[in-house]
Amino acid sequence: RDEVNIISGALELRKKTVAEVMTRIEDVFMLDHDAVLNFETVSEIMKSGYSRIPVYEGNRGNIVTMLYIKDLAFVDPDDNTPLRTLCQFYQNPCNFIFEDVTLDTMFKTFKEGNKGHMAFVQRVNSEGELDPFYETIGLITLEDVIEELIQAEIMDE
Ligand code: ADP
Repeated sequence: RDEVNIISGALELRKKTVAEVMTRIEDVFMLDHDAVLNFETVSEIMKSGYSRIPVYEGNRGNIVTMLYIKDLAFVDPDDNTPLRTLCQFYQNPCNFIFEDVTLDTMFKTFKEGNKGHMAFVQRVNSEGELDPFYETIGLITLEDVIEELIQAEIMDE
């Protein structure tokens, strides 16, 4: 029965899009590029429990880099290091993916693995008066895709 569920889950991956399973941008724990790595900020990061923290500049839709928890290993909160300094040192790249990409494609991309197991979900915003622009609307990790793979249930008709 488990096997049947996984196969069914694998087939479902072709129908679902990253936008359907992502963590929405409002719910993402992220940091302002202008933040200072003092005791308060570092505590908040630790409390969040996440191992990767997106860093934005200006507004939350403008993610510019990523902070890994392990990057904090040599940071002393008493030094009040600007987050910017750390980001410039590590320059961790971010991956972007379009909101309408299906989960099977996302899974393959994650498996290829050269870019890490997290991606930011983008869409083209053409709603306003402005020229259309790319907007980040969420993030997706390998864990989100695997959850879809194993949680899929067979619907009894
Ligand atoms: P971690 O290694 O940090 O626990 P996972 O890749 O295991 O992250 O993802 C666990 C869940 O948390 C997924 O649903 C993912 O979308 C979400 N997630 C990961 N990082 C963040 C973050 N910085 N803010 C909010 N949600 C996140």
